[in-house]
Amino acid sequence: MNIHEYQAKELLKAAGVAVLDGYVAWTPDEAVAAAEKLPGPIYVVKSQIHAGGRGAGRFSDDPDGKGGVRLAKSIEETRAAAEAMLGHTLITKQTGPAGKTVHRIYVEAGCDIARELYLSLLVDRATSRILIMASTEGGMEIEDVAEHSPEKILRVAIDPATGISAFHARGLAFGLGLSGKQVGSFTKFVLAMYKAFVELDCAIVEINPLVVTKAGEVVALDAKVSFDDNALFRHPELEELRDEAEEDPKELEANKYSLSYVALDGTIGCMVNGAGLAMATMDIIKLYGGEPANFLDVGGGATKERVTAAFKIILSDPNVEGILVNIFGGIMRCDVIAEGVIAAAREVSLTVPLVVRLEGTNVALGKEIMAKSGLPIIAADNLADAAEKVVRAVKEAA
Ligand code: ADP
Ligand code: MG
Repeated sequence: MNIHEYQAKELLKAAGVAVLDGYVAWTPDEAVAAAEKLPGPIYVVKSQIHAGGRGAGRFSDDPDGKGGVRLAKSIEETRAAAEAMLGHTLITKQTGPAGKTVHRIYVEAGCDIARELYLSLLVDRATSRILIMASTEGGMEIEDVAEHSPEKILRVAIDPATGISAFHARGLAFGLGLSGKQVGSFTKFVLAMYKAFVELDCAIVEINPLVVTKAGEVVALDAKVSFDDNALFRHPELEELRDEAEEDPKELEANKYSLSYVALDGTIGCMVNGAGLAMATMDIIKLYGGEPANFLDVGGGATKERVTAAFKIILSDPNVEGILVNIFGGIMRCDVIAEGVIAAAREVSLTVPLVVRLEGTNVALGKEIMAKSGLPIIAADNLADAAEKVVRAVKEAA
């Protein structure tokens, strides 16, 4: 689960991480009230959407060509910036061409920036540890730094048995070329970040840029926090930070049924059991020249209701031109899948080709139920056969 920058900053602040003063605003009047509470004379008005690259982004209808993060030199300019952002669609490198509508903004104190650095914490699968990454290349996308100048990324993996110590942070501080008072400020910052990361069960915390002020303080200018969904049950208070307007409605619906669904931009919807088989299905669709519309793992113990829900979610995607159901009935019985597929297909009046490959427990019964349903289901014998059939059926239907 992702949250907005201002929410991330509130959580980090509570954990002792240095952030600037700021207030969220939903209307231009609230933006003015927020600015009046800040010392001024520089205010920064920041669009709150779940995507980065806001500063360099553009509003779809904005004639002045200014981005989603703006400096305002007065209360009047703050109001003007708020009016230009609220209710408008911001397009950044990360939003895709459709952009995202700005419903809230963050009005923050302006900062006297001496240096922009990069800092992030994430769960590293290779070392099974929390990895701290830091770089002198603040404000740039870390993927670009990794590609063009990987030597500029410093890494420290923290042993969970001992946790973090000040020396870890000091090592990074010296690597970043910090000196004097900056080192202490950075160390305090990193220790507080690590504590927040562990306590909140984060998946990623990215501070880009991390700023060294002219006064030698280290503060978070931007903050991106993403939580580990599997640990969210331990943090009911975090669930309240969810902004449903930012989430794919299909993924939200899938979440209700504990379906593992990820929307993609292809045309072939897939319903599969098991994440590995789902990945293999997506690969083989591509191998046969198609593009998957989604990743979907219905799980091992899916009921007829869940299968029906999954089917409806796939069909609610307007890009879907064909569906491939690929089920290995190990824990799950093929007849249950067959009934779910038929029930859903009837309920939504299926208009796209449907290819089903079943294997495993009760496969004969499953196939029989499908054949007798009277629905135009294309049966497939194996994975390659299924992929070839669905790609061909979509081409023929077009
Ligand atoms: P994004 O990464 O989405 O573009 P940021 O929060 O990183 O958004 O802001 C973009 C840039 O705007 C920063 O790199 C920084 O130069 C500037 N900026 C952001 N917040 C402030 C602030 N409070 N004071 C001064 N400059 C800021
Ligand atoms: Mg940023």
